[in-house]
Formats: sequence, structure tokens, C-alpha cells
Amino acid sequence: MVMQLPLPAACSLGLVDLVVAERQNGIHANFFTGIAGEWRDRVQTYLDHGGSPEHVQSWPAIGPRKKTFHNLYKSADDESAHGLAMAPIRNHDLDLCPACGEPGAPNTLDHYLPKGAYPHFAITPGNLFPMCDACQLKKLEKTGDADNPRYFIHPYFDVFSVAKIVDLIITPPFTAPTFELIPSPALLPGEAALVTTHLRELDIPGRYVRFFRNEHRRLIRNVTTMRASGQAVAETIGAFRNGHADPTPNSWQHVFYSAVLENEDLLEFLVNGDLPAYP
Ligand SMILES: [Zn+2]
Repeated sequence: MVMQLPLPAACSLGLVDLVVAERQNGIHANFFTGIAGEWRDRVQTYLDHGGSPEHVQSWPAIGPRKKTFHNLYKSADDESAHGLAMAPIRNHDLDLCPACGEPGAPNTLDHYLPKGAYPHFAITPGNLFPMCDACQLKKLEKTGDADNPRYFIHPYFDVFSVAKIVDLIITPPFTAPTFELIPSPALLPGEAALVTTHLRELDIPGRYVRFFRNEHRRLIRNVTTMRASGQAVAETIGAFRNGHADPTPNSWQHVFYSAVLENEDLLEFLVNGDLPAYP
């Protein structure tokens, strides 16, 4: 599940000034000089409202010049201002997707507000973050609808996601349980609604049910070994959970083992029940 990230070091506002200045001798000089002030204002609005599509408007007047912005993103020379700004976002050190928690280095960048509808944020560092391919395919150009103006958790601005934001409910029979993800009860209503749409729109429950089934089988095999060797089951599971709280308490293993430890019936089953022998 999600991981909160620090806002990129490159200043989203300052980058507007640098990009406009770099184009003063080019064929787009007049265009960029003409929009510079409004472009800056719109980036400021983005930063003020954490990229929320409820408050950040599209910019119809630049529609005909959409490609000019997209070309900035696609052809960011290493030495250009936006090339230098985007390099650390591309060359990250993440080993999980900050949108869904999938293990592995996320190898694409997501535009939180899609560059199709918001070309003026195509190179805005605060609008760009690493994402896995599976999330990209689910997110596409979506932002929200009338009922939920904002579907997705923003990894830079939704600071509530630094805490654990989802709970897993594991329902018997514990030999073949069912799994349900819900927003953590401690969240505020608006935060819980955002978690709900984020889970739904990225199809996270469907994509991760296999992980939970396998983790549950692994747990039962591990507990069988623990019991045979006289190891304390609950304490050892607690150590598993704590070991997975880094880099985020929303890692799927941390969510899973937290759910196990908070489920008295499941713990009783693990400590004293008749455990199946999974292959
Ligand atoms: Zn993902």
C-alpha cells in the first residue's frame, strides 16, 4: 500500500522561471514569456492545494500548445533545468511502488494530475513520482468524479499516509480464510474516503489477494516449525511485523502481520489449533 515520500528537492515554482529563461533565444520565446506569470500562479495553486483536482483547474487556453509542454517532458536534456530537476525523481532508490506497495523498483513516473488534461504540470516536480506499471495501467487519466473529486492519495502531500492507513480483516475458516482491506478506523472521514477510492481505482484488493493467501500459507508453515521447536508464536510473529514496518507501516507484510496479531481467534488457532500441512 502507499508510502509517503518527501517532496522533490527541485522547486516546482523556481523551475518555471528557469525553463522560461532557457527559452528566451528559441522559437517558443514569445509563447513562454507570455504565459510565464500565469504558469507560475497555477503551479503555486497546485502546491497550495496538494494537487487536488477539486481546487486545481485545467488551463484550456494552452490546449493548442499541449505538445510544447509534452515535448519538455519527453525531451528533457540532462543539462536542461527540467532535466536536472527530474533526474533525482527518475533515479530514485525505492524498492516498492509508493502507490500500491508492489515490491521492486517502480520504473515509470506518474503525473498525479495527468499531463493530457494538465499539460502545464508535465514537468512540475511536485506532480511527478515513481509508480509501477500495474498502477499506471489502472490509473490512466483518472483523477476523480462528482462524488469523489479526488481518487488518489498524493505521496508528497497526503501526510496522513505516513501512518498505517489500511487494516486487513482475516475471516475464518483459518485454513482457507477470506481477506478484506478497509481504511484504518483512526482516519478522519475525508482520509478514509480517499483510501477507499485509492484502493478501488487501482484495484488493489484484487491485485493483492494472492499475496495474502500466500503469506497466510507461509505463516502457517512457519508456525508449524515454531511450535515444533518450542518457539513463542505470538512474540515471533510480532518480530516479523516489526521487521516490516520500514520503510512504511503500509508495507503489505506489516499490514498482514498487524492483522494477525490483532485477531485473537486467529492467534488462538495458530498457537493451539490443528494446523493444515500446506505443500
Ligand atoms: Zn503500484
